[in-house]
Amino acid sequence: MIDTLYIEEAVLDHPRTRAVRARLPRAAVIPCRHYGEIFNRRNQHFRLQKRRPALILARKRDRFLLPAPAAYGLGARHNFYFSHMLNCLYDCRYCFLQGMYRSAHYVLFVNYEDFQQAIEHQAGRDEAPRHFFSGYDCDSLALEPLTGFVQAFLPLFRRLPHCLLELRTKSTQIRALLREKPLPNCVVAFSLTPEPLRQRLEHGVPPLERRLAAMERLARRGWPLGLRFDPLLHDPEHRCDFARLYEELFTAVFSRLPAAAIHSVSLGVFRMPEDYFRNLLRLHPDDAFLAGPFTGRAGMTAYREALEAEMLDTCRRLLQRHVPPDKLFICSTETEGAAEGPTGAPDPGSPILRPCPDPSGSIQPGSGADTMDGHHE
Ligand code: SF4
Repeated sequence: MIDTLYIEEAVLDHPRTRAVRARLPRAAVIPCRHYGEIFNRRNQHFRLQKRRPALILARKRDRFLLPAPAAYGLGARHNFYFSHMLNCLYDCRYCFLQGMYRSAHYVLFVNYEDFQQAIEHQAGRDEAPRHFFSGYDCDSLALEPLTGFVQAFLPLFRRLPHCLLELRTKSTQIRALLREKPLPNCVVAFSLTPEPLRQRLEHGVPPLERRLAAMERLARRGWPLGLRFDPLLHDPEHRCDFARLYEELFTAVFSRLPAAAIHSVSLGVFRMPEDYFRNLLRLHPDDAFLAGPFTGRAGMTAYREALEAEMLDTCRRLLQRHVPPDKLFICSTETEGAAEGPTGAPDPGSPILRPCPDPSGSIQPGSGADTMDGHHE
């Protein structure tokens, strides 16, 4: 699958680099000084690279954790994001990563110990609950056999019971979790869309049926599950069927999963910074999904306000049949300050947090991809 490995000179001898190389013995190895030389190069073609992405092994140098805006979370006051990887195995038509990055190559930051130190430092401040969301610029589990991410981070959270780790995924890559004793403070959160939309828009993502089977296995083993119906999508091809498609999805999910296994359920609508959306349109000029019905609002491309409200309302009503109110979260900038707080890190298909102005200015577009000169490009 991966036949080229770029490796920053600084991590050539890192144990995780050696482990990745051992798993990809045939890959050509090209040393580089900084991953930005490859990743941020001008005149790259995301779509062409997506057909055969290389893997870049790099060292994350700073901003290991990013604070979430106050309105986002699962009830804790302190919420953070982190990205051990940039880019994703899958190819969702609506994914903001294509609009944000020039390159489709995967970047894996191998210095997990620095992320862990930052988490421990935060966790050690006091006993207040702190939530840490992974899978912001990638899928948390899809490349687990290569990254060993779960294996490396679970022991840390076992020692930090007042903290919560969310693993956000669309994959069925659960072997590493099944090998471990379940952690009550690690939520395996699955992003789900109706199966016809998955087939049409989420290329490479396993069918709903296979993910439900994976979720059932995790539930049987005692892992808490998160259900992320985010982003909600209104495909023009199924325009009249929005409520039916989501009702079918909810019925399929809640008839299979034991209520006790469900940690939290969240809803969020599709939105994207306008400049990322323009990039997406350039990449897929003929795609019917990208034709709308969207509008521009405060620098964002989003569904028209009335439609967005209707989508959220429809799903909220449908979900109330299955989910107690204290487990249901609405992820929308409109709910900031409302009693029902939105949920944690969005799937990269729903980059609601990306442009959300943080008063401290600490969450910035492209924050995962630090370039050589420290600017975000
Ligand atoms: S939306 Fe999520 S699963 Fe889909 S390509 Fe983007 S990161 Fe991967």
